[in-house]
Amino acid sequence: MRYLSTRGHSERKRFCEILLEGLAPDGGLYLPETYPRLDGAALQRLREVFAQEGYAQLAFEILSLYIDDIAPDDLAAMCKKTYTAKVFGNPQIVPLRPLEPGIWLEALSNGPTLAFKDMAMQLLGNLFEYELKRRGEELNILGATSGDTGSAAEYAMRGKQGVRVFMTSPAGRMSPFQQAQMFSLQDANIFNIAVDGVFDDCQDMVKAVSNDLVFKSKYRIGTVNSINWARLLAQVVYYFAGYFQATTSNSEKVSFTVPSGNFGNVCAGHVARMMGLPIAHLVVATNENDVLDEFFKTGVYRVRGGKDTHETSSPSMDISKASNFERFVFDLLGRDAKRNKSLFADALSRAGSFDLRDDPVFPEAAARFGFLSGKSTHADRLATIRDCDQRLSCLIDTHTADGVKVAREYRQEGVPMIVLETALPIKFAQTIVEATGREPERPSKFEGIEKLPKKVVSMAADVAEIKRFIAANCA
Ligand SMILES: *Cc1c(COP(=O)(O)O)cnc(C)c1O
Repeated sequence: MRYLSTRGHSERKRFCEILLEGLAPDGGLYLPETYPRLDGAALQRLREVFAQEGYAQLAFEILSLYIDDIAPDDLAAMCKKTYTAKVFGNPQIVPLRPLEPGIWLEALSNGPTLAFKDMAMQLLGNLFEYELKRRGEELNILGATSGDTGSAAEYAMRGKQGVRVFMTSPAGRMSPFQQAQMFSLQDANIFNIAVDGVFDDCQDMVKAVSNDLVFKSKYRIGTVNSINWARLLAQVVYYFAGYFQATTSNSEKVSFTVPSGNFGNVCAGHVARMMGLPIAHLVVATNENDVLDEFFKTGVYRVRGGKDTHETSSPSMDISKASNFERFVFDLLGRDAKRNKSLFADALSRAGSFDLRDDPVFPEAAARFGFLSGKSTHADRLATIRDCDQRLSCLIDTHTADGVKVAREYRQEGVPMIVLETALPIKFAQTIVEATGREPERPSKFEGIEKLPKKVVSMAADVAEIKRFIAANCA
């Protein structure tokens, strides 16, 4: 399998070459040259693999279709080490449970940080360690977080050979639970940096360091952001696992509703569907930051300025542009890289938007690729959480609530609708209390984490200072 750039760069790369990279050299995103197609027999075999050998083996089988430069035994060992009941709190890894007639919840949030990002990030930690060791190299991951991404990255990389994590976050802006999750890590290779500023200040610092190419190469600075192909690939697996749990034969179809921000999660669903998984619809659920809902409803993709981004009670979906969206548009355009580049490199940077309203490809987003969308507001979120809690005795988090709200608009007779549960309620306790009047339950391993000693340094939003800090800790 070779990988290409969505903007047409001529180079083709293998999996391990793009594993540690971010964007392609021309600013595009990496995608496989083709999606492996599974026929009926292959899908049936995967169903049996999942039933008899479990999630880790299913992951190995699917990843093997895309990775041919890691020895199969090594890849299988990494999948086994990653997807264990110990790490994910359940032998089924992603158990499915009924919510109400026609709607199911697939739990993706029982990993170490209680959000779905663990599903991919835990595997990434093992892949990074493996590849860095093979190359005899080190990597310093520099990131900015307002919550879920940073903690998932730290829990995936803690104690790993050859990797350090420098994670900036806006001082005092994360929930106390999220702060405690991150800052209580005492591992020697994890560095928390609380920046006196807002999330954008953190992101600007990271960008400034990455744009200093001399510093970047001297200190081997890398990232683990959501455009990383390996992350997306790892997420493809749970669409298969959800489908197999909701159906008994491969003649049945299901739909998925996905609480979306950067379009990474639902893009993995798109890949699964392109491989032949019988998915009727992929429903994109957004919060008040509705760039994606606007596109699927109107054909206009209009990114927002930083100040037009709403701070909401489903904060992990607060985006101004959806960084993985380019991958889907590339497929929608019939993989016309030149056109894709003109939309993402030219139109977006010039006008902040592009318009496919009158283009013959736009109706195909729904008709051929199965995409639908909807949005949810703070009031919807509260009402949905309260209703699920009181009427259905099921407490869900704020992001999952956005999913359930939108899923209910697209329920179809005879087609199970699977809502991806992307986080547990305890991470967003304040809104849960607002909706239900009581504190969500806390898994026992998180009892009292706010009182643990914290490992964090405070810093002004100063690029020179963070460079000094990185240099000093790499010595
Ligand atoms: C990251 C995140 C999302 C959004 O996922 P994308 O891949 O960015 O679309 C939704 N819910 C939770 C809880 C998250 O952490």
